[in-house]
Formats: sequence, structure tokens, C-alpha cells
Amino acid sequence: MSAWLLEYNGFDPATEGVREALCTLGNGFLGTRGAAPEARADGVHYPATYVAGVYNRLPTSLAGQTLEDESLVNVPNWLALTFRAEDGCWLEAAEFLEHRVELDLRRGVLTRLTRARDDAGRVTQLTQRRIVSMDDPHLVGLETTVVPENWSGRLQVRSLLDGNVTNSGVARYRTLAGDHLTAVESMALDDNAVLLRALTKNSRILVAEAARTRVERNSAEIEVTRTLLQEHGVIGQELTAEIGREEPLTIEKVVAVFTSRDPAQSEPGYAAGREIATAPGFNELLERHVLNWHELWRRFGISLEEGEERTSRTVNLHVFHLLQTLSRHTAGIDVGVPARGLHGEAYRGHVFWDELFVIPFVNLRLPRLARALLRYRYRRLREARWAAQEAGYAGAMFPWQSGSDGREETQQRHLNPRSGRWNLDNSSLQRHINAAIAYNVWQYHQVTGDLGFLAGYGAELIIEIARFWSSSASYNRALDRYEIRGVMGPDEYHDAYPGAPTAGLNNNAYTNVMAVWVFCRALDLLELLPSDRSDELRQRLSLTAEEVERWQDLSRKMRLVFHEDGILSQFEGYEQLEEFDWEGYRSRYGDISRLDRILESEGDTPNRYKVSKQADVLMLFYLFSTEELSEIFERLGYDFDDETIPRAIDYYLDRTSHGSTLSRVVHAWVLARSDRTRSWDFYLQALESDVSDIQGGTTAEGIHLGAMVGTLDLLQRCYTGLVIREDVLWLNPQLPTGLRRLAFTVLYRGQLVELEFEGESVTLTSQTSRGAPISVGIGGTVTELQAGGRLELSASAPPA
Ligand code: BGC
Repeated sequence: MSAWLLEYNGFDPATEGVREALCTLGNGFLGTRGAAPEARADGVHYPATYVAGVYNRLPTSLAGQTLEDESLVNVPNWLALTFRAEDGCWLEAAEFLEHRVELDLRRGVLTRLTRARDDAGRVTQLTQRRIVSMDDPHLVGLETTVVPENWSGRLQVRSLLDGNVTNSGVARYRTLAGDHLTAVESMALDDNAVLLRALTKNSRILVAEAARTRVERNSAEIEVTRTLLQEHGVIGQELTAEIGREEPLTIEKVVAVFTSRDPAQSEPGYAAGREIATAPGFNELLERHVLNWHELWRRFGISLEEGEERTSRTVNLHVFHLLQTLSRHTAGIDVGVPARGLHGEAYRGHVFWDELFVIPFVNLRLPRLARALLRYRYRRLREARWAAQEAGYAGAMFPWQSGSDGREETQQRHLNPRSGRWNLDNSSLQRHINAAIAYNVWQYHQVTGDLGFLAGYGAELIIEIARFWSSSASYNRALDRYEIRGVMGPDEYHDAYPGAPTAGLNNNAYTNVMAVWVFCRALDLLELLPSDRSDELRQRLSLTAEEVERWQDLSRKMRLVFHEDGILSQFEGYEQLEEFDWEGYRSRYGDISRLDRILESEGDTPNRYKVSKQADVLMLFYLFSTEELSEIFERLGYDFDDETIPRAIDYYLDRTSHGSTLSRVVHAWVLARSDRTRSWDFYLQALESDVSDIQGGTTAEGIHLGAMVGTLDLLQRCYTGLVIREDVLWLNPQLPTGLRRLAFTVLYRGQLVELEFEGESVTLTSQTSRGAPISVGIGGTVTELQAGGRLELSASAPPA
């Protein structure tokens, strides 16, 4: 097995969807699933292309109610291409004698190798290479080489732009409207190029694709007969050429994609047409694309030394899909972190709190991308302020699920495929999303020292979020504590008290601690900003001394609930819930990761039990060091000792079903210091989330970007103990038992630094020849790394 190749041999309809998702090619602007070019959406295959940020909303009537959903739109299929020997069957109806798909991670090329036999026994070899350019985000290309094995004659190739597509990739959503495109129009541009335009129905985004085809024999372009194919929603050409036995013929299709959301264009159809008129041929496009990937791997690569090549391959796959979803090309457009990548339609392309698992990793690699992703939130402050106001709160209340304009996009009802019932979805009560945004702003600032961002955008986000928390906390006179009531924590299994008429839980520990943390940061930043900026901000936001005073109070008197034996309670009342029959359910159902669906189909609910879908209390140990947490507890006047963390880990680990792929990432993290073997086990399981589709079918609907990047951040920050505190890059490496060596490069305060870890020692090599030195800390001692310099450090023997 190569660490740079994802390979699939043979064709398996049952796993085709997973393969298509994992073989998606993207460049941070658009993503195209790895479906075969001749494939149509037929229940096995699902060809689809998504452009980042291109959403549309549609209403559906369901049981007398109108539901409205906003989805990332499946745009016209640029890939469509098929062929036949004249009068034979088309490729999609032929028999595949051999079939292999190879995804070259280093170069970003998807290759498909097939031998197909048509209905007259004619065998043709087919090699297709595909790219989504990392060089020019608007260009994509497909190169098809056919070699007749036992025949010669006329070859007919159909190359189309297909606008007759809908969003139908997720079975659960198929009763909901998915027909997002309208006004599809097309035209021929010249002899070998065609253009298709389509408008999204409600958001009125114009999407344009222009395709150019060329045919080559022996690397020289040849003339072929071309017939324009144009019918409703589809345009293309049929190319006819004479082909000799065993004689390769190459058809290249290069397509330009623009939308009316793109900067620096007047009309996307014009832009696409112009782009395609000047675009280079496939080979040159490929060369530039590979060069870009080369550079990306230098920046983002993580090299591991351990027993299994598979681990390295999956780590590479995760870096690959991160960069295909979010790249420097994303930094120029207004989009957030889509939970399922640009790879499928699960969660409708929405943006959740998953950026909490993504941005901290990106901060140390491509900070300008992190900044752009945070600005996606900043631009939606207006909507978040309205949402807070409408709910009777102050400040800004960001939505649990966000799309184009930042209003709440969480579905009102969701289908339990097990029971066939459409149940109420209360997950928008996960107000902790607000804390995730504030946390990321702070992290970004800590890592980059970018005070301009903090003053211009970040501070306003944190202050508005602090205001929201402040107004949502109520004072409990009897306890002299503040409470946050009626919310949900990250554990989505609990959305209400058993039998309660309304949804929501009180005093979720994660939410309350995060709120305290936000108050503290809001207070800090008023001190941190230069006084003129701080004064400006107070004035602009009409921030009063009373408000700031209240944050002080809240940050000291927020309520946390503890079980009788001192365990930090997930929420008030959790202790009174019933213990769950884990063994019984495991033996009855096998995979019980989606206990919510199982219990609901039995007429029961997880709300009754001590069961968690994913880490909830333990999220605190994921985000904060022991020192930071003990400070918060002390500030609140609660006890915190050496046993607080390990006891909570043991308690909740026993009661978690890992129904979210994020859960194993968090568990690997929180166990990293106390149980290195178990941590590594969780790590390896988290790595398998998508590549082995461990949830049994969800990967086909899109990758789990949070879990993917979570596994990268475990290597980058967790096992290395990398934190940035007060302008020092601190390291405290403790590699897990399964990992001998680990190396990667970070961009920290303008210096590109290569870090190589082995056991408890680390070598730092600055690859930047100019600039200010950076401070590096290990084992309590801080040393300077000069630009272009090198340091060898060890946690057990720090420098004198
Ligand atoms: C998880 C959430 C996550 C969402 C999107 C859900 O299954 O419970 O925590 O944000 O998926 O990835």
C-alpha cells in the first residue's frame, strides 16, 4: 500500500457511494464527486458538483406543514461523458471486464482504468484522468483515452453539460423538494465549445459552465465530426472519429465554472466563455495543478513513522480532503466550514460548530484562511443580532446550522429512517455554537498575534456573544448563582427532560463553563486592545460599565451541577436519569451508535437514560488545559483536584455511544496523557471514520470534515502539547505508544518552522531566512529560535 494512493479494484454497487465521496476532487471553490463520467443518479451512482456557498431554499409541504430547507445546490454536471463503438451500446450499458480507480493524493488526480465489452463483444480499454484545478479554481478537466482491443471503426463520444440535476443524494431527504435549478439555457460558443447557464430558484444565483472538447491522436489534435446536442437542460456535442484497432485516441474536456457570487466578473456566462477560450490544454492544466499541490503538501504534510502505511495514507487523505474543501481559493469567497465538505448532501452543506475542530489546525498552517472563515461569521452578525432580539436576548445569537445569510437553518423535523417518523428537531437549542465562534476568534489571535483582526472583527464577535450569554443567564437567588436554562449540550441524545412538555435542559456544564470563559475573554480584550480601539469599541457597541460589571459577576457565579459523588454533571438532573442496558442493546442490535434512532423506533427516548451520543462534559478537557480549567473552577468557587478530570472521563466514557464521528477525536485527545494506548486506539478508530465508513452509510453522503481535521489536530497540537500562550510556542511532546516519530511544518508569527518529534524530544528548524526570532518553550524554559536557525530540545532535559 502506498501512503499516497487510494485504490479501488472492481466495481461494488454497495460501496460505490462511499468511493464516490472519498474520490471527490475539489479546490475549495468547488467539489465534484468521484462518480464515473457516464454515470447518472440512479441509486448506485451519484454524480454531483457543489460550489462553495451556492445555496438555495425550497419549501416542501409535509403533513399539512410547510417546511423550508436551504441546501448547498447540486449544480449542472460538467463531467458527463460517454462513448460507444458505432451502433454498439453506450459505455454505461457495457460489461466491465476490469475496473480500477486510483486517487493520487500527492498530485490530486483521479484515474479510472476500465476494460469494457459492449453488446457486440467489442472490448475497449479506457483510461480517464480527472482534475479540479488547484491552480485556477474555475477550471476542471477530464481526459479520456480509449484503445479498441479487438475492433476498429467509428467511435462516437458524447460530452455534455447536464442541467437536469436535482439534490437527491440523501435518501432521507428525498420526500423534500430538491429541484433547485431553473431557467436552464444553453448555447454553442464556437465549433468546439458550449455554454450552459442555470439559475437557482430562490437565491437567484446564476451558475455558468462552459465546456471545450478536443480530440488527439499521437498527441496531435485531429479534426472530428461534431454534432451539437441540445435538448431541455442539456447541451453538448457528439464527436465522431475513425479509430484503429489498438490505436489510442484521447478526448479532453476542459470546463470553466463561474457563478454570480464570484468576485471580479460581470456575468458568469461571459466569464466562463472567456476563460474556456484561453484555458490551456489538459496537460498544461495538470502540470500547474500538480505544482500547486506540491506546494500545499510542503505546507500541510504530516509525516509519521509507525508500523502501518495505512495510517499515513489516511492522514494524507484527511489533509487532502481538508484542502479540497477549504483552500486559499476559499479565502477569497464568503463561506464557512461545511460539516460534510463539498462531497455530498448530508446536512445540506450547512455550517455547524465543527469549525471548532478545523480552524485551530488551520491557524498554524494558513492563517489567512482561518481569518476568512471567521469573517464568514462576522458578516452574519446582523442576522445573529436579530435572532437574539427575536428570542428576547441581547447581543448576537448565532444559529446551530448556518448557510447563506446566517439565519437558523436547522431542520424543523427530521426523519428517523428506522421508524419512518418525522420527529421534531430541537438541536437548534445548541447555543454552545456561540462559544465555539468566540473560542476560535481567541485561538486565532493567540496564534497569529493579529491585533488588527481582533480590533476590527474579533472583539465585536466576542463582546456580542458575551452579551448574549449574559442575557440568557438568569439569577437563582436561593443559590446565589446564575443559570442557563433550556439549552442543549453537544450530546444530541438529550434535548428535554423525560416527559417534559418543552424542550431544553438546564445548566449544561459545557455550555455554562464556555459562557464563563467567554465572559473572561470579553473582559480581557477590553484591556488588551490599545485604549483608543477599546474606547471606540465601547462607544460603537454602546457597552456600559454595568454590562461589564455583570460579566464579572457572571464569570464568578455561574452554576455548575455535581453528582453526589462529585462528578461534574452533564446537566442538572442527569444524575436522576436511568442507567442504560448497554449489554442488552448491543446484543440485540449490534451497532448501537445511533441509539436515538433505535430508542425512538421502540417508542422510547434517550432522554430517559444516562447515554451520550458524543463527548459533552469531556469537551471541556478537549478545549482547555488542566491549568485553564482549574482557574475557571477556582474563579467559580468550585473544587477542582487531580481526580476531577480522570473521574469524569471514566464516568462519561462508559456512557457514550460515539454516535458522532467527532466523539472519538475528543476521546483520543482527553486520554492522550493518562492512557496513551487507549488514546491511540481511539485515534485509529477516528481515522477510520470515513475511509471505512464506520457509521455504515453516512460517508456516501459526504465526508465528516470535523473528524478528519480533528485527527490532524491530534497530531499537530495534542500529542505534541503545542499551545501558544503569551507569545510563546510551548511544546510538551508525549507521542502515543503507536507513534515513534512525527514531523510537520507550521507557520508561526511569520516563520515557517519544521518540527520533528521523537519521544520527548523535538528539533525545530526555521525555514524562513529573515524576520524576528520566535520564542519556544519546553519544560518551563523559553528559548529563542532565530530565523533560519535550529534548536534541539527535550522535555526531560530542557536547555540550560
Ligand atoms: C453531531 C454534531 C455535528 C454535526 C455535523 C452531528 O451528528 O452530533 O456535533 O456538529 O453532526 O457534523
